[in-house]
Formats: sequence, structure tokens, C-alpha cells
Amino acid sequence: MSLDINKVRADFPILSRTIHGKPLVYLDNGATAQKPLRVLDALDKMHRELNANIHRGAHFLSEQSTEKYEDAREVIRGFINAESTREIVFTAGTTAAINLVAFSFGEKFVKAGDEVVVSEMEHHSNIVPWQLMCERKGATLKVLPFDDNGVLRIDLLPDLLTEKVRILAVTQASNSLGTINPIKEIVALAHSRNIPVLIDGAQGIHHIGVDVKDIDCDFYAFSGHKIYGPTGIGVLYGKEKWLEQLPPYQGGGDMIATVTFAKTTYADLPLKFEAGTANYIGAVGLAEAIRYMQSIGIDAIAEHEEELLKYATERLLSIPGLKIYGTAPHKVSLISFLLNNIHPYDTGMILDKLGIAVRTGTHCTEPVMQHFGISGTVRVSFGLYNTTEEIDRLYDALLRVKQMFE
Ligand code: PMP
Repeated sequence: MSLDINKVRADFPILSRTIHGKPLVYLDNGATAQKPLRVLDALDKMHRELNANIHRGAHFLSEQSTEKYEDAREVIRGFINAESTREIVFTAGTTAAINLVAFSFGEKFVKAGDEVVVSEMEHHSNIVPWQLMCERKGATLKVLPFDDNGVLRIDLLPDLLTEKVRILAVTQASNSLGTINPIKEIVALAHSRNIPVLIDGAQGIHHIGVDVKDIDCDFYAFSGHKIYGPTGIGVLYGKEKWLEQLPPYQGGGDMIATVTFAKTTYADLPLKFEAGTANYIGAVGLAEAIRYMQSIGIDAIAEHEEELLKYATERLLSIPGLKIYGTAPHKVSLISFLLNNIHPYDTGMILDKLGIAVRTGTHCTEPVMQHFGISGTVRVSFGLYNTTEEIDRLYDALLRVKQMFE
């Protein structure tokens, strides 16, 4: 079933805005995606009609609010095909989820002399938390490189996965190169050496979906705001066998069973990892975003975005002097590029004046830029509501940028 683009676009109020007098072309979905009315309405309804703190009150609204929060957990469990809602921890986002694992896993399982492996294409949020943990524990961070097309050197992984390695963390898809990594294969290889794997799903889940049982990863992290849901909410999936063993990350209300000054015991999963008042309204909004994507169909979304990627790649490559960074055969719908020696920021500024929103810079992946010896790129990233007409506008605008600098 293909996607009805006019109907989809009508679901996103912001898309009818003009910017600098031009109709908005929003191509910064990799940074954050726009929200459909359904999500905005769900958030509004929660605030207007149901707002009450969860898991505490003896009153009607608190019960209702708690029920909605736990329903949202079930929606997420179904969406990623986790075994149980005990494995779904709400966090503030991908970054918070990875920090949780880096801290708690590090506390329990990492000691001086151990190793942690990440890839060269990770977002800073899948590098720095591991560095912090390695520094604390006296462990070493090792790096799986990628080749000049932006494809991970899986051939080098067996040698990297020594018996000192405690955990491997890798992204499902790169936010600056677009590469889709063979995560199932990576997990199988790591597991053959008893090494658990964390997958950063921030750029994967809404483009190609995920089945955590099928890929068999140990942890999976993603953010609500990149998948048409609200900001400030995200998810950590963790296999129960790991979450049971990890110590809490943060302490406070809701994560305890009993507290005395002598000793505190912790709540059962998943609340053990949800200290303080949860973002229950964000969770409800995230569940609505997932229902929205499901109503369109992840396969239909993937097919539409693949067409956009193919079309945009061909059009951009037809511009003399334009170089694409990230030429892997399997990519999510984003393109990083440079136009001659024009500074990416200048390109971005001019595109903005023409109503086209893109991202410029390192995209929180400085090691990727270092690999190519560049200071940054222009990145266009497509969502389910983008069109080939918008790509034509991007193409025309890039020709204007070129003219202005030549
Ligand atoms: N990982 C990847 C691959 C990302 O693209 C991002 C967001 N740019 C993050 C992690 C961090 O997500 P958040 O800022 O929502 O925590």
C-alpha cells in the first residue's frame, strides 16, 4: 500500500507555514520531525482533561493518567516487538537511555583493563557516555572504523571483539552518512563471543522499523521527537535478564519499593529505572505518534522515503561540484553533501532564505568529519511528508547558491 502524500501532509499543521515569504520545505527531520495533529491533540487532551501525577494518587484522574502511561508502554512494546513491558523504560530520549546503560552496566560489569567497542560513525551521544564510563572504570574505548563509502568494516570486528570487551554499542543508521548497518549480523557476531550489544535506534526506527526479538539486541534506544512524537521522551529497551542485573541509574520517587535510612529497596522493572515524576504526557504523545505511523504503515513509509532518497541523490549528483558524503548501498533517507568549496553554513543560510530548512555542521559526529578531513556538511533529511516537488525546490535553490558563489 502506498502512502497518500496529500492526506499525510494535511496531518501536519506546520507544513502549511511560510518562512521568509516562501512555503516551508522542511528537510531537517534527522534533527527533529514535525508532529501530526493526532499527537498535538493527544497532548492537549492530556493537559486539559486528564492531568494528574501517575502511580501515586488515590483519585480518578491519577488512575486514568497512570492507565494511559502504562497503555503507552504497551504500544511501544508492540511496536518494537519486545517480550514484555518490563523491558520498556521511559527516558528523556536516546541520550538519556544510552547514559543509563553506560552508567549502570559500567557499575556492574566493567572493571580496569576491560574494553568497550563503538563504531567510528556514532553520534556523540553513543560515544561520550562510554568515554565517561571508561574513564571512571579504567577501561579502554575501541573503535570499529568505516570505509570511504561510509560502510562499517565488519571484517575488522572479529579482531576487535577480544575477551576483554564487555559491551559493543553501534548505531542502526548513521545520522550524518545515512548508512544502515547490518545490526542483526553484528549482534550475532558479538553474541558468539558472549558480548552484549546496544543499538542506537534514533535514526533507524522511524525509517525502517525494528524487531528487537529478531535482531536479538540486548539494549535499544530511541527518541520520541524524531519519530513524530514530542520532545523530552524516549525509550530504553533492555532484555529483562540485563535490566534485572543492572543497578539503578538515578534515585528518587517511584523507583523504590521501601525506604529507610538504613536501607532502600528498589521497585520492580521497569520502574526501577524511572526515578521522579515521569513524563507521562510525553509518553502518551509518543504512543500516539506510533499509532499514527502504524496507521500509514512502516513499509509504506520506508518505500516512500526510499523513492525520495533515490530521486534526491540523482538530482543532487547532477549538480557539478556537489559531493555526497555517505555512499553506502543501504541508506536511510538523508544526504550529507558539500557544494564545491562553499562553506556549509553559507549554503544553509541561503537555503533558509528560500524557505528550505536543512542542517549544517558536524551533526554531532565529529569523528565522521575527521574521517573525511572536512569541518562539516550540509544535511538534508527526509520524513514521511516530504515530496519530490520539494526536492526540485532544493535543487533549484542549490543552483542559485552555486551561481551566487561563482
Ligand atoms: N543518536 C543518533 C544517531 C542521533 O541522530 C541522535 C540525535 N541527533 C541521538 C543519538 C541523540 O538523540 P537525542 O538528542 O534525542 O537524545
